[in-house]
Amino acid sequence: LLSITGLNKWFGAYHALRDVDLQVAKGERIVVCGPSGSGKSTLIRCINRIERFEEGRIVLDGLGSAARGRAGQREIEEIRRQVGMVFQHFNLFPHMTVLQNCILAPMRSLRETRATAEAHARELLARVRIADQADKYPGQLSGGQQQRVAIARALCMRPRLMLFDEPTSALDPEMVQEVLDTMVALAEDGMTMICVTHEMGFARQVADRVVFMDRGQILEVAPPADFFDSPRHERSREFLGRIL
Ligand code: ATP
Ligand code: MG
Repeated sequence: LLSITGLNKWFGAYHALRDVDLQVAKGERIVVCGPSGSGKSTLIRCINRIERFEEGRIVLDGLGSAARGRAGQREIEEIRRQVGMVFQHFNLFPHMTVLQNCILAPMRSLRETRATAEAHARELLARVRIADQADKYPGQLSGGQQQRVAIARALCMRPRLMLFDEPTSALDPEMVQEVLDTMVALAEDGMTMICVTHEMGFARQVADRVVFMDRGQILEVAPPADFFDSPRHERSREFLGRIL
């Protein structure tokens, strides 16, 4: 579904991503971890084309095959339509209700009718177990509920790939599990997912592969059991020693 080859990105003189290669099959669940500043968010943002890159290719199901991230504007819009993104901070529109947040993009970019978009949104809000909050404003919800709305909102676009960038790290501890449960359910439904997270229980439970990044490079890619129980790199061991 997704093919990243020879990806390099600089912020000015700073080399943020170095020769990143990663292939993700349809239905695969990838967990990305690594120290702060290792390039995890930058990688996710390049996949979604929020960030430009200087070298390499990121191809999503045939889209974006031009080198150096030089996809046309229409192609970029199409990629963004197919890739759902959930951030650390929920980024919901505060002046819109939960339901309005969910139907905006489907009506605008998928040209769904209000009735279709609403029916789909209600179905997804039910799936993240928050159907009864549809007419509230984000500010009236807990952090965990807001993050579940953000997940439902992304799913309303019928994405082929979901990207998560530390979706639980801004939450109070008691709300982490409800968001992880939602992500587990999504994984069990067969969604292709790339999750940046340090929730190692989640990684063990759902990841097909764990990707360890350090200083802009992918140092190790392994099934969770191998990565956690016998990390191959000195730096993976150091990292695990700090977070476990
Ligand atoms: P964290 O775990 O703290 O979220 P990360 O692995 O997500 O870290 P990135 O946010 O991808 O790290 O950042 C990688 C490096 O690129 C960091 O050194 C950061 O300072 C740098 N960087 C990120 N965004 C920019 C930017 N817009 N301009 C300049 N440098 C940036
Ligand atoms: Mg980050």
